[in-house]
Amino acid sequence: MRESFTRFVLGGSRKNVSLISFSFAGICLLFAAFSVVSLWAAEGKPIAAGETSVSVEAVKDDGGEQDKITIDSDFPGGNIRVDSIEGDLVRVRPDLRGGSSWFYFAFRVKNAQGHTLRFLFDAKNRIAARGPAVSLDEGKNWRYLSQEPNADSREFTYAFGPEDRSVIFALAPLYTRKNWDEFMAKYQGRGDVELSALCQSPKGRNVELLRIGKGNPGARFAVVLTCRHHACEMTASWVLEGMLEEVLDEKSEFGAYLRENAEFFIVPFMDKDGVEDGDQGKGRKPHDHNRDYNHELYPEIRALKSQVAENFSPESGKKIFFMDMHCPWIRSGKHEMFFSMLPKESWISEAANNYLGAFEKYQNEGEIPYALSHNIPFGKGGNTMASFAKLENGIPTASAKIWACGLSNILCSCTVEIPYSNSSGVEVMPRNARELGRNLSKALADFLENAESAE
Ligand SMILES: [Zn+2]
Repeated sequence: MRESFTRFVLGGSRKNVSLISFSFAGICLLFAAFSVVSLWAAEGKPIAAGETSVSVEAVKDDGGEQDKITIDSDFPGGNIRVDSIEGDLVRVRPDLRGGSSWFYFAFRVKNAQGHTLRFLFDAKNRIAARGPAVSLDEGKNWRYLSQEPNADSREFTYAFGPEDRSVIFALAPLYTRKNWDEFMAKYQGRGDVELSALCQSPKGRNVELLRIGKGNPGARFAVVLTCRHHACEMTASWVLEGMLEEVLDEKSEFGAYLRENAEFFIVPFMDKDGVEDGDQGKGRKPHDHNRDYNHELYPEIRALKSQVAENFSPESGKKIFFMDMHCPWIRSGKHEMFFSMLPKESWISEAANNYLGAFEKYQNEGEIPYALSHNIPFGKGGNTMASFAKLENGIPTASAKIWACGLSNILCSCTVEIPYSNSSGVEVMPRNARELGRNLSKALADFLENAESAE
């Protein structure tokens, strides 16, 4: 039996400072060291990509041999603050990075095989209904820790098996640029697919832009899809993959119709830096990307607005279908079902309902339940102008949906909310999120076809 006791060692993975092996070099240095410990304990040690990790030194009672358990967020999408490690209790919290209180986390524990650790967050409503998503292969495959949607919202305990050398725990299965690149690699060489950059992010990254059927002379519709205005809302990306699979499926009659009649303009990561750096993004100060459509603080927003205007002007003769994909709050009621916050303009709201009515029909065959009654009409349940438009420097904030509603050639502007892990009692995984996405594209084909015949 592997009995061990743990010692609290704060160290950098690169600098590897050990306070325990500290050889009392001087009283001043000792004071300095303790002040570091107390500061970290009070504020939580942020572990940002490329910085330090926190480790626990577990020493076997047979002496000598040592494993160092490390906790880090040094990977794309990583986010955690470790407050303390006492015995087998690890106190953690989301690294809010100046944003308002939220629940995004993604961290990795290495060398804990044989241990059972209890991870306790700073507050309730940090963990979704099925517990953390767990990956044993650096994010390739995932499962939820809880089989039932009744997991504690503040803590979880994990018994590391003998092979669990590196385990990632996250709010839900992570989706970053790496996933996107792997997905798009399947379509390499397709003449109707063009990958380019919408713009450069503030930190100099390429903001991916996917165009399907660019310049297609037969296209009467422009379909503009956006994802990750809120960086942490990764489940939306799995749905986007499904949508694109259907559009690009050469055996699909829906795909064939869409490729023939529409031109697609897709931005998978509207807050590119936030996605890669592991920011929650939601509630970013002074406002997040989905409140930036009047202020235009972020280059992604400026670029989307100007390029849509340039490519799909009313003079182009193309009608625009716009959809922005999100995840809701973490738990309970509406937040555990797929829904849409319908727009203010009644005719656009009706268009969105028509589209989602077609989706309801296809999704009846799908795993994740959906009914039109899930949607929130404008003016109800938080779907109000007060939620989207707050005066900032005398200018009201505006969301992507509000911007798109204002385009003179808009046909439909809507958002969808995909629960992180539990939707109407069904476990949300990449597989059934993609299936839902495929049905969103089938519905899109129906909707555009009807719009065409109504003209
Ligand atoms: Zn969102």
